[in-house]
Amino acid sequence: MTDQNQAPWWKCNECGHTLQANEPPEQCPSCNKKCEFVNVTCYTPECGMGGPDPKLMGGK
Ligand SMILES: [Zn+2]
Repeated sequence: MTDQNQAPWWKCNECGHTLQANEPPEQCPSCNKKCEFVNVTCYTPECGMGGPDPKLMGGK
């Protein structure tokens, strides 16, 4: 089931800034670089089927 109002969450690989958008921005609003954004959206009930996944956010 897909909810169109539930846009994915993206995390900047450069500074770790997260934002919610249908498409990742070309330029990070936080570090103002053209960074790579990774999808960190949670799709499991553990974190409520939405929002950024703390496990993916934790990274290291
Ligand atoms: Zn950034």
